[in-house]
Amino acid sequence: MLQQTQVKTVIPYFNKFVKKIPSLKAMSLSKEKKILKLWEGLGYYRRAKNLYLTSKIITKNYNNKIPNQFKEIIKLPGVGKYTANILLALVYNQPRIGVDGNVKRIFLRLFNKSIEKTEITFKKKLVKKNRNSDLAEALMEFGALICKPKDPKCNICNLKRNCKFFKSKKKILFSRKNHVIEKKYNIYCYLKKKKKGIALTKNKDLSFLSNFYIPETKKSNFDRGKNGWIYLCKYKNNISNIKMNISLFYKFTKKKPKNFKWHYIGRKDSELIPTFTKQIINKLDKIYI
Ligand code: SF4
Repeated sequence: MLQQTQVKTVIPYFNKFVKKIPSLKAMSLSKEKKILKLWEGLGYYRRAKNLYLTSKIITKNYNNKIPNQFKEIIKLPGVGKYTANILLALVYNQPRIGVDGNVKRIFLRLFNKSIEKTEITFKKKLVKKNRNSDLAEALMEFGALICKPKDPKCNICNLKRNCKFFKSKKKILFSRKNHVIEKKYNIYCYLKKKKKGIALTKNKDLSFLSNFYIPETKKSNFDRGKNGWIYLCKYKNNISNIKMNISLFYKFTKKKPKNFKWHYIGRKDSELIPTFTKQIINKLDKIYI
């Protein structure tokens, strides 16, 4: 849940999730729809799908336990090098470091060298026997709370005596490059007057909503009302680090476009309708009145 998403956003979702799905076994026995429903609103649904697939693999092939070897854990859906290392450190206390932007920054500041070059020094100086899991946790917290990208809290930092940046009095700050990505989208909604129908299709373009039902969406500049499309409004939708500037258009039709299905506004659908689509439906609802 924390990939690409802030802790404060995740907490209520996490609490609700573990209440309903308290174990890997419970997840593996659930329906994917239930997992996705609990995930609804968090975006990047691929994470939920991977988690679900992973729970099935772990219960079936690994006797309900996360594998303890890198070559095995890296094969699980959605697990990359960082996640594999951090899990092995946290769960099995293995001497591994999950290297993300935070960890890179800490090492650059402390040793004025990249982590790849300072790893041996680091291991000798910092690793205590059997505390690898604590170290992995501490590095995450240290990067988030003390050695922050902007405004590091050097005055209260226990490592300042050994910190190259602190000693050199250099104020080297790290900006979060490319943290926010801005994109423009035009969304085209085919509507049916009868029963308030809106044509939805399985999304293939937006990475965070893969295979979910949305209207026709095109990444492009604003094109006010071409080909009979009526412009409704502009609005912003932020999903994680993607800032979407959306222009919404609609057109009434009786014929359903190819590869679309009718969804009837106000009626329960057997398919899961993501929050992204629900927001569009709310905006369209007023034009039926
Ligand atoms: S002294 Fe400052 S720059 Fe150095 S590790 Fe501590 S917080 Fe980071």
